Amino acid sequence: MTTLLKPKGILLVVSGAAGTGKGTVNALLMKEHEDFVYSVSATTRPPRPGEVDGREYHFISKEQFEEHIRNDAVIEYTEYCGNYYGTLKSELKKLDEGKNLILEIEVEGAMNIKRLFPDSVTVFILPPDYTTLRNRLVNRGTNAADDIENRMQKALREFATVKSYDYAVVNHDGQAKEAADAIYEIVKSEQHRVSRTEDAVERLFFQTKN
Ligand code: 5GP
Repeated sequence: MTTLLKPKGILLVVSGAAGTGKGTVNALLMKEHEDFVYSVSATTRPPRPGEVDGREYHFISKEQFEEHIRNDAVIEYTEYCGNYYGTLKSELKKLDEGKNLILEIEVEGAMNIKRLFPDSVTVFILPPDYTTLRNRLVNRGTNAADDIENRMQKALREFATVKSYDYAVVNHDGQAKEAADAIYEIVKSEQHRVSRTEDAVERLFFQTKN
């Protein structure tokens, strides 16, 4: 360990429009490093084939989601393509266990988290270019044609916000592991940031009596 004390978990916000491969990159990050865990969001959109309730999302009804909002159980939420998506307060408990918590959320939510938690780390995942992004959306085959156009337009609008993020990582075709490794290095560096270590310096060197 090269930090003064065991570092606290980092709130890691990862954004990237549909087709940037953020899900694959995050899955690799968690597979290779057990101190990275996923914040499972709640959503009112129906599960896609292969998605499991409680793993990719907590799939809930619009009524249930609105009840969570009323009960102040949601840290941030947004409406995206006609559905609610939100981060549940209960997910933050994982940070206390020293885990780096991955929030895979869109731009507006990411900026809300950064405002509420200034020491969070925000990463934007980009595809290498326009054509690659379009091909990925078409090949995914789970969205209708006009939905693809919708997501493509939304993606381009999102890319314009990249400058609001702390870091940008490109996910090239077949190189998701490299992108996951880059995010891992970012988090490891962030753990050494002096502002995260100040308390430890005070405790270990100025409050210790021999
Ligand atoms: P998808 O339907 O493709 O799973 O997700 C659509 C968008 O919603 C993605 O950009 C995803 O990152 C975002 N999203 C997922 N969960 C949350 C959340 O809890 N809060 C916010 N603000 N966005 C989310």
